Amino acid sequence: MAKKLNFTMKKIREGSAEIYIPIGEKISKELPVFYNPVMKLNRDISILLLQQFTPMNICDLLAGTGIRAVRMAKEIKYKSITANDYNKNAFSLIKKNMKYNKVKFNVFNDDANMFLLDSKGFDYIDIDPFGSSNHFLDAAVKRLSRNGILAVTNTDTAALTGTYPKTCMRKYWAAPKKDYMMHETGLRILIRKIQLAGMQYEKALVPIFSYYKDHYLRIFFKCIKGKKECDKIAKHHGMFNGAGPLWLGALWDKNLANKMHSTAIKKSKGNKKDIDKDYYDKELLNFLKIIKDESKINAVGFFDTHRMKKIIKKEEIIRKIKEKGFQAASTHFLGTGIRTDAGNI
Ligand code: SAH
Repeated sequence: MAKKLNFTMKKIREGSAEIYIPIGEKISKELPVFYNPVMKLNRDISILLLQQFTPMNICDLLAGTGIRAVRMAKEIKYKSITANDYNKNAFSLIKKNMKYNKVKFNVFNDDANMFLLDSKGFDYIDIDPFGSSNHFLDAAVKRLSRNGILAVTNTDTAALTGTYPKTCMRKYWAAPKKDYMMHETGLRILIRKIQLAGMQYEKALVPIFSYYKDHYLRIFFKCIKGKKECDKIAKHHGMFNGAGPLWLGALWDKNLANKMHSTAIKKSKGNKKDIDKDYYDKELLNFLKIIKDESKINAVGFFDTHRMKKIIKKEEIIRKIKEKGFQAASTHFLGTGIRTDAGNI
């Protein structure tokens, strides 16, 4: 039975959806149902990514207000959408938001792991928790289709970026390093940990789009079933800059990064009536552009121009490296950073 919602709410718009969210003093776990407007970009990117694939059976595992599932129902082509949350208020609010937006999908009110293990599996599973994704990885990997996509958010960046090295060792089985590259290091440590979860079941998880933003890390993996594919993944696990073991392979599929950027540009130029127009904003477009360029460069780590003795503009250095026949671009991990295959700069 759907519970009566006994907290105050307001309506907000995000993407093509208009949803009810709880009114609270601040954005925290204490809200009756969790909604964070800062994560709009996280949801925008998930949608842009899904738009590049054929329709899938989608699972929004930790759905909160249902904003992600509602937007997916309106903004992408899919085979099915299922939203789940163990919070009773969330369950009722997801239904309310679904009806209000005149879309229809399956809604469950179970513990995420029980729900997954009871299900027939999905082509796309989105794990978007508070804190660590660890609790959900095993069941998610088990129920991910052979060629599915696993999307993971982690907000416990302090552990992964070296503020709490012991926590990182315990939860992610690697040593972090707190320096200017800590966000890339943390992301790569997390990637390896998730890959290990996949390898147990002979599922190779290949990162196709990864990033760090605000207070969280996000990775989309393509799943390939097979022992050999898993062995290939393991070959790219190693140390870097005194941190790890971590993933030393590519963080992006560059064709996908390219397509996501061009889709966003196209949508942002849509006509006024186009529902997509107002949410492909400058911040998202800039972010996708940086990643698109960065994804072409085959290098682990980057340089921080801020640390260089001579004061030269970053763009100038990038230009000079390219003149010498190497590749170089800005990195989304650090405003003053340059990713390049030039060795020492
Ligand atoms: N994905 C949402 C935000 C979700 S916040 C968005 O994009 O807006 C995390 C949610 O996970 C919360 O609503 C919380 O109730 C739910 N949750 C936490 N642990 C859970 C578990 N074990 N099973 C099911 N839901 C869980």
